[in-house]
Amino acid sequence: MTTTVPVLEAKDLTKRFFGALALDGASFSLAGGEIHALIGENGAGKSTFIKVLAGVYDLDGGEILLDGEPVDPRQQALPIAFVHQDLALVDDLSVGENIALVAGYPRRRGLIDWSAVMAQAKRIYGIMQVEPIDPNRLVVTLSTPEKAILGIVRALAHTPRVLVLDEPTASLPEHDAVNLFEAMRRLKAAGTSIIYVSHRLNELFGLADRVTVFRDGRHVHTAPIAETAPERLVAEMLGRAVELARQRPANVARREPVIAVEDLVVERRGPISFSASAGEILGLVGLRGGGQEAIGRCIFGAKRADAGRIHLDGRELAPDGGIAARIEAGIVLLAGDRTQESAFSGMSLTENLFVNPRLGHGTPWRLYSPAAERRRARQLLETFDVRPRNETSLIDWLSGGNQQKICMARWLEAKARVVILEEPTAGVDIGAKLSIHAMLRRAASDGAAVIVVSSDLDEVAALATRALIIDRGRVASELSGAEITMDELVARSSLGASRSTATASTERRP
Ligand code: ADP
Ligand code: MG
Repeated sequence: MTTTVPVLEAKDLTKRFFGALALDGASFSLAGGEIHALIGENGAGKSTFIKVLAGVYDLDGGEILLDGEPVDPRQQALPIAFVHQDLALVDDLSVGENIALVAGYPRRRGLIDWSAVMAQAKRIYGIMQVEPIDPNRLVVTLSTPEKAILGIVRALAHTPRVLVLDEPTASLPEHDAVNLFEAMRRLKAAGTSIIYVSHRLNELFGLADRVTVFRDGRHVHTAPIAETAPERLVAEMLGRAVELARQRPANVARREPVIAVEDLVVERRGPISFSASAGEILGLVGLRGGGQEAIGRCIFGAKRADAGRIHLDGRELAPDGGIAARIEAGIVLLAGDRTQESAFSGMSLTENLFVNPRLGHGTPWRLYSPAAERRRARQLLETFDVRPRNETSLIDWLSGGNQQKICMARWLEAKARVVILEEPTAGVDIGAKLSIHAMLRRAASDGAAVIVVSSDLDEVAALATRALIIDRGRVASELSGAEITMDELVARSSLGASRSTATASTERRP
């Protein structure tokens, strides 16, 4: 920190979304040549702040200064490079073109020089010292970590004065994260100031110079990181002191596992081993991009494992049987993106309930008479409290919560052995949320192993009988029974398993 005037300063920023305050007088100050970590719970306003800096949103109040001069990111191009949380890559363009969108298209005699576009891509990957991806590949074909790396290297195309990274390591395998930290240190040495938004407190120690905590759209804490204990940061994030439970040995009596995964590696992350028994509701939680969703999809057969085995009732499942074989074996998944993947738009509630001919206790689909089907549909609408209770109406007319009940009824009706749900109550109202939780508890007590992949920590605290905190495709920590509280889940998903893992290959301050 050589200068006294901050490179970038934000004062009293206010941003409202439909009346709700995402930023409520937030301030932030970035010194020259520092790596400044910005942390806070989900919804604290970090991404909104970044998007205001990027000129994506206009402000309802406050001001932004660059080298002490007021600036308007909506009106002027600032010397700031961004890696947004949602990456903002263009799926239908190639890797080389996505880089060229930021770095510029090299031209020769007025025409785009494609071989130079490709050479540029290779050079830029070199900055992070990672293996370049074939610049001709379409972004849509990249894996999640490959996209994350592309989003990052693209921002490094020009050495920016200020670099802003919003949770870039969430979906990065550990060795790539370490490469990123090295690239950040080199940029810092070259004079770039960096704002680094992260949920992983561990990785900040040894990387960041200072840390700022946002809570509820406000600035609550800034300090040199070397003088700050991780527990203090968690307390600032939550707004209260937390007493963390000791990790007790899980002495809860458990039945034979229904589903067991062993050394599973998915999307290059892992390995992970865990099991779930009949009657359990197992929460898989973690940071966004932590890999928990891919694990659920792999068990369901929708994603191939890179390595590892999956056992159902003690028998190993064929690794490439696909979804159909898994459903037949009794493993079902309710995808998070309901409108895209679960609800069959344009079809009636009855059709949505009985859409899969493989279901129905081994009874072939064709043996259902329309009248019997209608009767059964009415019963299900009743049992699962679907409103309105008209089996012939189109699913499109139902509220999100009621659509979700239909999709769940479809699987629960099939008496699946393993029910995997992604974000089961995202975007549904509180009444539907309670009914859905009741459905899941009933499915568990009826003998299913229920696996809930959720980033809603309140939901996991309320619902799960056991929770695994997943980080980079591995179990960072495990909680069971009364240990599963909001505070524990927040703390553990921020602190990770042991403080040594994330910093092992990076220098630590004394
Ligand atoms: P963070 O990045 O710290 O998790 P965000 O900045 O994404 O937090 O969100 C802050 C608050 O603003 C949250 O309550 C979020 O729901 C809300 N919010 C963010 N973006 C939008 C948007 N485009 N429209 C409406 N509300 C939003
Ligand atoms: Mg965010």
